[in-house]
Amino acid sequence: MSQGCEHAVEYVYQYLDAELTWTRRVRIRWHLRKCVACDGAYSFETRLKAVIRERGREEPPPELMNRLRALIREEGSGSADS
Ligand SMILES: [Zn+2]
Repeated sequence: MSQGCEHAVEYVYQYLDAELTWTRRVRIRWHLRKCVACDGAYSFETRLKAVIRERGREEPPPELMNRLRALIREEGSGSADS
């Protein structure tokens, strides 16, 4: 288990919203490089945000976001069948 995962995942959302200080950004980038689970979550969020922006829509419904985040967590726990 990687250290700092909880904080990294928590900060990823702020990172995407550009609400972080420079030092925290560096710390997250460092963690994303070492941690596949968080990197996957970050890539997913980035793509999701891009899609939302492209369509010019509001944030997706919270329950959809929760479901997607749960999926990411399952993937990160190493239970993928591939
Ligand atoms: Zn992590």
